[in-house]
Amino acid sequence: MELERVILASCEELIAKVSRMIEKVIEKELTQVQTAMKSLAQQQQDANGIASAIAKLTDSLHKRKIELEKWNEMQQKYFDQMAARLAYFSDNASAIASEDETSIRAMQERRMEWLLVDFLLRQGLFDVAREMAKDCGIEALIDFDVFTTAKKVEEDLEAHSCQLALRWCNDNRPHLKKLKCDFEFYPRLQEFIALAQQHRPQEAIEHARKHLTSVTDSVHIEQVTKAMVVLAYHNNPTTTPCKQYFDPARWEWLKTSFRRWNFMLYSLSTEAPLCVAIQAGLITLQTPQCFDQKHKNKQCAVCFEPLAQLAQQLPRADQRTRLVCGITGDIMNEDNPPMVLPHGNVYSKHAMDIMQLEDGYVTCPLTQQRFRSSELRKAFMT
Ligand SMILES: [Zn+2]
Repeated sequence: MELERVILASCEELIAKVSRMIEKVIEKELTQVQTAMKSLAQQQQDANGIASAIAKLTDSLHKRKIELEKWNEMQQKYFDQMAARLAYFSDNASAIASEDETSIRAMQERRMEWLLVDFLLRQGLFDVAREMAKDCGIEALIDFDVFTTAKKVEEDLEAHSCQLALRWCNDNRPHLKKLKCDFEFYPRLQEFIALAQQHRPQEAIEHARKHLTSVTDSVHIEQVTKAMVVLAYHNNPTTTPCKQYFDPARWEWLKTSFRRWNFMLYSLSTEAPLCVAIQAGLITLQTPQCFDQKHKNKQCAVCFEPLAQLAQQLPRADQRTRLVCGITGDIMNEDNPPMVLPHGNVYSKHAMDIMQLEDGYVTCPLTQQRFRSSELRKAFMT
């Protein structure tokens, strides 16, 4: 049941997010009403002026009421989802306790359906995922809203726009702050670069003053300083100091970074739970013969392609494993422990120490994703 626990955390975050939105709307409206009432009391207006101001205020309150009704409806939807998810766990616990074969099989089938729908969503197959969830009656267990919002943000970034990514930052600010998320800095920096590239220096400088001067982190300050070069070299994208800022791969990196933080925000794993479950099964089934072409068995799941490819990446119980760093080629051991990057790839501490000397960041050579050195986690060898 460990894999499915995430659905409680994600639903909790959605409820908290909507509560924050409701609070924000009420606070904003209250301030506006108080200001308007104060202004009315101070101004010497005739009856028509007062009636017009009150009508304006009533209209604003009415609009806010409609907005609040929308949020309340959404909150109720998430409360219902949470109730359904708790019932799901309760049913599973009862099935296990009952030791009844039919109940346990039904529980396993439902889990498999959840794993498959989640996988389809991660592959971007929204319509198929929705149909399947509906047919299986597990819609309440699936975070459609999380994936739908993420898809919109990613598509916006693919279209070289940071608008939706920044809105996502704004909507989730309190939780992102708790996660020490620095993602917002990057779309802001990207916007500055875009303005400079379009030869709009005045707007670029104003944008930088407004959004980039508040950074206190030395790494970010250095990045802002270096990016200023685009103002001078906007006409020459091939110039070495400027080249990296014109690279379309920056948008791809932004998209990957957003996806990672979005998963983290909702406590979702970056790897699809279906793949994790399959790999866990393959580890227990694999034998030394599975990796020998002469001894492959048609009846064996690990010998079966493409599962064999998945199994190739897994540690083998029959071998004395030596971990070798993909960057330096050094053996990883207690003196040079493996360090795990947030996206799951592992490199030696020596390699990470050398890499972060330059700007406090490390870059995964396989995916080109960049991470702050503080995001690295030590893996313990057993
Ligand atoms: Zn086999």
